[in-house]
Amino acid sequence: MLSKRSKEEVVLLMLCGLSIPSILPFGIIRLLQHHWILAAVDLMIVFGMLCITLFVWHTRRVRAAGIAVTVFYSVGMLAAIYIKGVSIVYWAYPTMIAAFFILKAKEALAINSISLLCLLWILQPAMPLFNLSSLVVTLMLINLFSYIFSERTDLQHVELNQQAEKDFLTGAGNRRAFDRQIHAMNTHETGMHDTCLLILDLDHFKNVNDQFGHMVGDQVLINFCSLMRMRLRSGDHFFRYGGEEFVVVATGVDSVAAARLAEELRSLVEKSVLLRDFPITVSIGVARRRQDEDGESWFRRADAMLYEAKLSGRNAVRVDGLDSE
Ligand code: GH3
Ligand code: MG
Ligand code: MG
Repeated sequence: MLSKRSKEEVVLLMLCGLSIPSILPFGIIRLLQHHWILAAVDLMIVFGMLCITLFVWHTRRVRAAGIAVTVFYSVGMLAAIYIKGVSIVYWAYPTMIAAFFILKAKEALAINSISLLCLLWILQPAMPLFNLSSLVVTLMLINLFSYIFSERTDLQHVELNQQAEKDFLTGAGNRRAFDRQIHAMNTHETGMHDTCLLILDLDHFKNVNDQFGHMVGDQVLINFCSLMRMRLRSGDHFFRYGGEEFVVVATGVDSVAAARLAEELRSLVEKSVLLRDFPITVSIGVARRRQDEDGESWFRRADAMLYEAKLSGRNAVRVDGLDSE
């Protein structure tokens, strides 16, 4: 059940779920000791965590729940220290660290800074200045280290995601990046209607490998990608779909403009020297995205056009709706 949920959901569910058996025994002990107010604070935290666990489980709304959990924990921790005094101040440490697991680093730091000020106000009359200073300094350090660690982890996460979506040979977006782009278009329908898909497949590429070897073939693929990047606009998305097959997602162009772009790309490849003494050409299939069409059917139409371009003798462009009627 948990494996189908996002990482954020799992962290939140585990934190809330685990806090219930951790805090409940304290609530029961305090009930037995007739510490009614402290018992009420503990049991309220347990009840709140139970509600948030059920809320996340059913709605999957992690962000709102994350802020609620952190504020709830922090207020609970401050209330308990206010009532019981300095003897339970150690709970401030795990509470503040937990905030960095749940929220973005800056949000956690903001909530913890407010908690720290409240803590200072609560403890200042009861604690000697030296002890209070030690407490504040260690809590500040805990927050600083957690903040740096959390920011660094986020940065690594972004870098890893970028690497995971890049084709290692050519630097173009890979199949995974393409799938994500198409999925994003499926979920954000608006404004995506004038978008065309171009599937480019190098002609008789097997012959290049057979005659010159795989390394030379690789270099041709690299040269081809550099050439495409030089011509494409920054708004066009370029991917290596697999092998010697590439995809361009061109936004803001209708079929006629996409046909012109495809023809330019075809002619550019034909005229360029991607491999000395050996002509390299490309065939291109184009399809404009239809309203309410899913990515799969869109791709299939462009692929059918590529097939027609190959059948027509290669080094050709075919556009769905322009050439296929
Ligand atoms: P067609 O015009 O019908 O597309 O013919 P083709 O030879 O290009 O197509 P086919 O699918 O028969 O062969 C594709 C070739 O592309 C075979 C494979 O060795 C080569 N290829 C795929 N990926 C790479 C790669 O990363 N590096 C190199 N050097 N060759 C690759
Ligand atoms: Mg090919
Ligand atoms: Mg191919």
